[in-house]
Amino acid sequence: MRAAVVEELNKSLAIRIVPDPECPPDGAIIRVGANGICRTDWHLWTGDWAWRGLEIKPPFVLGHEFSGTIEEVGRGVTQWKKGDRIIFPMNPGEGTCEWCRSGNQHICDSGAKLVPGVSYWGAFAEYVAVRHADVNLVRLPDAISFVDAASMACRYMAAFHAVVDQANVRGGEWVVVHGVGGMGLAAVQIAAAIGGRVIAVDISDKALAAARELGAVHTIQSRIEDPVEAIRSLTQGGAQVSIDALGIAETCRNSVLSLRKLGRHVQLGHTTRKEAGYVPLPIDVILLHELKLYGAFGMQGQRFGTMLTMCEAGILKPGQLVKQKVGLDGVNNVLEAMGGYDTIGVTVIDKF
Ligand SMILES: [Zn+2]
Ligand SMILES: [Zn+2]
Repeated sequence: MRAAVVEELNKSLAIRIVPDPECPPDGAIIRVGANGICRTDWHLWTGDWAWRGLEIKPPFVLGHEFSGTIEEVGRGVTQWKKGDRIIFPMNPGEGTCEWCRSGNQHICDSGAKLVPGVSYWGAFAEYVAVRHADVNLVRLPDAISFVDAASMACRYMAAFHAVVDQANVRGGEWVVVHGVGGMGLAAVQIAAAIGGRVIAVDISDKALAAARELGAVHTIQSRIEDPVEAIRSLTQGGAQVSIDALGIAETCRNSVLSLRKLGRHVQLGHTTRKEAGYVPLPIDVILLHELKLYGAFGMQGQRFGTMLTMCEAGILKPGQLVKQKVGLDGVNNVLEAMGGYDTIGVTVIDKF
């Protein structure tokens, strides 16, 4: 099969023929219909996440946000057959640990070993193998295209989990999204769709314009304005919900400081090498204002039903976040542009 192969970190991917993946007994081989290019791919390609223990060893094939058609199932798989259209949620489980058995496969104890494109070869290729197909795969309705579905397999579903499941945003609440890259824009669209009054914060005018198109009622250019002051003034005291969709010290701290009393902060962006997982936060404010802090990491397969129904009904439009489609040979340009934070929304590979 054709694949885009990382042969050396930080060097152009080579488009070449590699062996087809083998089908695991509990898994499936997916013919990739579309695959999103994520900042996680960039972190892995540059070696930026070695401090987290997340390293790839070239040669390696990236790609963890994909949809497609089942080509083959393992002998232990009972729920799926060749030809089924699927989405693969980016953080799968193995089905038996405490978290999987309680319906929380996305935080499975063994999850880190099961992610295509992170723990083994992924979907910047014609075919990809997935493990534990019965536990994780999500049926893709015919009305939703592979491109729209690929954009949902990682960032969009994580944003949905953050806004709907973790922050539990209610109609009329102020929702601030700090950092409107692909995941932040998804949070903007979802929060606006369920009735939140959304404020988007970013340093990029292009990203802020995209946020307005997706439903933000206010945007704050944080190079020019102090976002915390601007938010406290707009909302007369702070937002009920604030989401850090970027993960740097400044956006995390600003998110917590944007909240009114009893507000809910959601951490949706991973930190970078600079923070290495640690960000100083205003602890006394958290205490005195009785703030709540949540994490959001992907979403379990069985929670897709609500999100896909909202897509079919036209309430959510993940395709609006897809700003660029490329072939496998277009991946290098996209990864390079990500280094300069020069990409808007989501880019999807749709030709292999
Ligand atoms: Zn991703
Ligand atoms: Zn598990």
